[in-house]
Amino acid sequence: MPDSGNASANGALQAIVDFLPSGVSLFDRDFNMVLCNRIFRELLEFPEHLFTDRLPSLEDLALFNAHRGEYGPGEPANLAAQVVERAKERRPHVFERERPNGRILEIRGNPLPDGGFVSIYTDITDRKRAEQEARRSAHYLDAVVNALPQGISVVNEALDVVLWNRAFVNLLNLPEDFMTPGITFADVIRFNARRGDYGEVDPEEKVRQMVDLARRFERHKLERELRDGCVLEIEGRVVREEDHPVGFVTTYTDITDRVRNAETIRRVRDLMSDAIDFSPTYIWETGSDGRYSFVQGVEKILGFKDDEMLGTERGKQFCTEHCDQDCLGPGVRCDRMEPVRARETLDRCTLVTRRADGSVVWLSSSAQPIFEEGGRFVGYRGVDVDITELSLAKRELEQMALHDPMTGLANRRKFCARFDLERTRQSETRKSFALLLVDVDHFKRVNDQFGHLTGDACLRLVANQLSTALRVTDLVGRFGGEEFMVLLPDSTPDDALQVAETLRSKIESASFPLPDGGFLPLTISLGVARCDPEGGRDFEAILEEADRGVYAAKQAGRNCVRAGWLVPSASA
Ligand code: GH3
Ligand code: MG
Ligand code: MG
Repeated sequence: MPDSGNASANGALQAIVDFLPSGVSLFDRDFNMVLCNRIFRELLEFPEHLFTDRLPSLEDLALFNAHRGEYGPGEPANLAAQVVERAKERRPHVFERERPNGRILEIRGNPLPDGGFVSIYTDITDRKRAEQEARRSAHYLDAVVNALPQGISVVNEALDVVLWNRAFVNLLNLPEDFMTPGITFADVIRFNARRGDYGEVDPEEKVRQMVDLARRFERHKLERELRDGCVLEIEGRVVREEDHPVGFVTTYTDITDRVRNAETIRRVRDLMSDAIDFSPTYIWETGSDGRYSFVQGVEKILGFKDDEMLGTERGKQFCTEHCDQDCLGPGVRCDRMEPVRARETLDRCTLVTRRADGSVVWLSSSAQPIFEEGGRFVGYRGVDVDITELSLAKRELEQMALHDPMTGLANRRKFCARFDLERTRQSETRKSFALLLVDVDHFKRVNDQFGHLTGDACLRLVANQLSTALRVTDLVGRFGGEEFMVLLPDSTPDDALQVAETLRSKIESASFPLPDGGFLPLTISLGVARCDPEGGRDFEAILEEADRGVYAAKQAGRNCVRAGWLVPSASA
């Protein structure tokens, strides 16, 4: 205990330290405690009894602490002795001690002039935690910033680069050890300028320019192509404190792929547009109601503007077999639109429609139904190709392959095919049909007298007279020469003889014009052959029968009809 002469002074001092927000202990030169406050006892959780009879010495407290593990593991007497030894050094000291209860104390010791020392204990647990929290946040921030694929740099008011990340270094292709604390915005610009990032410029001039620009602290966004072909989008945002700029955050995004993709898309779109413009093609889309929602390139094919087609019903555009105007032409049918109704893919389906001027167009249409993600049908997307020329050429070829070029009548191929068809039909109908062979009389004389061209014209007229005298179901053919064949379906031998007579009389009464303005009479001789269901004879045999008829007619003086079956065959 202090001596009684100082008792009142100590009382005042005690009152003061009791008001302090920190723990306080005061020891004399012999390390006996002179005083301490309540907070000291509470912070260190010293029990009351240590202070009841007399105040403890430093050694008492150290021993008590060592025993309760305050100094960690070890022999308590030794640990306590170390504490006392350190105190004897009488040096100011500050240290932190984490107590077993987890609280962290900051202990500041100061020696006193008379040899004693005073210690101040402050609970800094909360401050420490806050600091730790801040450090951790900074750490997280660092981790996040470095994990960003975008480059980031933060520049302060003085244009020092105060923060950057890995992506910044990588994207700008800076050397590994280039970015160091204290580096300035100007340093980075200078480095870039010197290695030619801005082209042929004076590096210092560029630095001045960029620094001036940066000092304006204006928000900016630009694209920069680097020497390696990469394109960066650089965006700077100004950081403000109470309306006063204090720096800016700049992000660097590699938009090379985006730029290239946009370029590719544009190029593909241009190519497609060209392909549509320069080819006999238009593309279209219809909604689920079958009406056009998009059309491109139709004008050059149909003569309607793309916009005019919008909203109109695609299905109604095409001619069908039931078309009142005969746009399909003989024997041509328009592929049906059933696949569209069944929402199937259309693969080169032939469609016939009319141009704005009324002319006929043949289209080859390919299309696909469009379904939404949920599977709902929303329309069709397709392409129509103008195949009119191709179709006409094809029809011409077919015509050539099956017809006699001079008269346009069926040639042998077509005639025989039709004969086979009638034979097949006959096996079901059991009806007879007939064949006529027609031979122009004394035709050699026509050629001799008026020339071959007049002869040809006469043959064409005979062909025409024969065709127009017959039913549409009958077929006239010419295999060459001045002979014609006629197929008469569903005809008895009598019917056939009658038809033959009609033809004979028609030719006899017709006049064939001559180049000199005059007219030429012509006659024909006809042989008739029967094609009954029982016979089953082939084409050649039937033709032979007709030929016998012709022969007989010639024998009989020409310009007459003879039944081939009544003429005995040469071999018979
Ligand atoms: P017939 O009454 O006995 O049948 O006498 P014809 O002169 O008609 O008979 P022939 O068989 O002796 O002669 C047929 C002639 O038909 C020979 C040829 O000059 C003519 N001829 C055959 N094909 C053609 C053709 O394509 N054009 C022309 N101009 N004449 C043809
Ligand atoms: Mg002949
Ligand atoms: Mg003849």
